[in-house]
Amino acid sequence: MRVAAAGVCHSDLHYMKGDWPIPLPAVLGHEGSAVVEAVGPGVKSVKPGDHCIIVFWPNCGRCEYCQMGRPMLCNGHPRPPGTMLDGSTRLSRQGQPVHHMAAVACFAEHAVIHEEQLLVIDDSVPLDRAALVGCSVTTGVGAALNTARVRAGSSVAVIGCGGVGLSVIQGARLQGAGRILAVDLFPEKLEMATAMGATDALDAHAEDLVRQVKRLTGGGVDYAFDAIGLPATLKQALDVLRPGGTAVAVGIGRFGEPAPIDAFSLVMQEKALLGSFYGSARPRVDMPRILDLYRQGRLQLDALLTRHYPLERINEAYADLQGSQAGRGVISFG
Ligand SMILES: [Zn+2]
Ligand SMILES: [Zn+2]
Repeated sequence: MRVAAAGVCHSDLHYMKGDWPIPLPAVLGHEGSAVVEAVGPGVKSVKPGDHCIIVFWPNCGRCEYCQMGRPMLCNGHPRPPGTMLDGSTRLSRQGQPVHHMAAVACFAEHAVIHEEQLLVIDDSVPLDRAALVGCSVTTGVGAALNTARVRAGSSVAVIGCGGVGLSVIQGARLQGAGRILAVDLFPEKLEMATAMGATDALDAHAEDLVRQVKRLTGGGVDYAFDAIGLPATLKQALDVLRPGGTAVAVGIGRFGEPAPIDAFSLVMQEKALLGSFYGSARPRVDMPRILDLYRQGRLQLDALLTRHYPLERINEAYADLQGSQAGRGVISFG
């Protein structure tokens, strides 16, 4: 594959910081789009010249989870971490294996990717926009549509307004949510959240954030999404719920880190807590739908994509990800 664009996602940062384990050395990058240059023997579903979204979580289609429509839980490819589906690597340095993040490793001009992880798209879709659908957009939109199934007229809080949080907001808007409260530390991000459909913008620094949410919504929201993944933000997502509400954990925290949860109110107020990985997506169903919504002007990808960087400036891109700049950045190739 000739990589076209690779999104600057927080998951790569988790690996860089050692929050999550991956054997080293490794090439990161998992949110991407690419064009097929050549195919190996037996490849049937893609051909040279095809434009593709890279699906960073392979799904075999045959295991129990794939068959029940939950391919994000696929267990059909047991293999050592950092390897391709056959358990080996395609990258090496001085004879030693170099590992692939998510069997993708798209922070590179070229990548070897299994056909199972490629979704062919129309040539008319700009490849830099398509890259975002490979992770952040599907993760966020899917959390609202698939995991939470947000209902029309309901109230929603979204904690963290980066690429994923903005996509949750757009998903909630598409579902017809009545009130969408965006929560972030940075005014620039809250401004973009409002442009993408949030009805209220709340400063995450505010000490009385939970009270503010309850005041604005008459007792708490129906759905709260934690798009950050810190113990404190997961707790907040549960605390801002009205009785009977649903919190959705979207951002992924540090491996093995516990979160403080008020178990008393979880039970007494019948709150629900759901994990949402990759938007609980069925990539071959959900990604084409997302692109259709984009084509119809109902889902904003152009405004979401705010920065392009050449590969040489990737460290700057990751510094920006942790700063105040709103929207998603991509590494662009050629
Ligand atoms: Zn990602
Ligand atoms: Zn499977």
